[in-house]
Amino acid sequence: MMRIVSATVFLVFFSIIPAYGQEQFEKDVISTSGGHLEITFLGHGTLMIVYGGKVIHIDPYSKVADYNGLPKADIILLTHHHRDHLDPAALEQVRTDKTILVLTEIGAKTVPGGIIMKNGDVQDIEGIKVEAVPAYNLVHKRDTGQVFHPKGEGNGYVMTFGHTRVYIAGDTENTPEMKELKRIDYAFLPMNLPYTMTPEMVADAALAFKPRVLYPYHYGETETLKIVQLLENAPDIDIRIRSMK
Ligand code: ZN
Ligand code: ZN
Repeated sequence: MMRIVSATVFLVFFSIIPAYGQEQFEKDVISTSGGHLEITFLGHGTLMIVYGGKVIHIDPYSKVADYNGLPKADIILLTHHHRDHLDPAALEQVRTDKTILVLTEIGAKTVPGGIIMKNGDVQDIEGIKVEAVPAYNLVHKRDTGQVFHPKGEGNGYVMTFGHTRVYIAGDTENTPEMKELKRIDYAFLPMNLPYTMTPEMVADAALAFKPRVLYPYHYGETETLKIVQLLENAPDIDIRIRSMK
């Protein structure tokens, strides 16, 4: 009897061992011509990518993860200065003396020592091509009449790993620049309202630039089923829903 009990405890213990620290996160592993690319879905607008032994944190945010339990960053990309994307507490935890930080001009006013990328800039960061794509609202506005994300302030990033192109859009709507993107393999498009896109806007963008895989992310309370329904007739776009509220 005792042996059965301890065997059960053993199995349960192993099934709840988290991937990192105290928390369990979903992770996808993608093969590229340059080796495996691991994407960990930390939640909200926050991702961690591991590629070629390098750890890349995107918009690290201490509300979604305890960064003490996560690997330190070789590279950090920040899309813009809003607190859920530029979080000094999270940066403190993942940044080291060797970390390469990429951020916007406004972001650099809060966090010194980074590489500023403006919309349209292209940089080679540790052998990874990084392109800054404009991220802004066309429609959704504050009560003051100002859009939530004015053009020129925020970046999305297209990163090229081997031949695989990953687009992380940041806080944006379906802009002409997004719709003109070419050969995107994996696209992360935001869907939290009222700040970014409706599912209809996401569908419009996806049908324009046709990513192979679409990950809705930063979707807040927006119903993810809606984007699946809207793209029902686009079987070439593989929609993957992960826990990215
Ligand atoms: Zn924002
Ligand atoms: Zn945001």
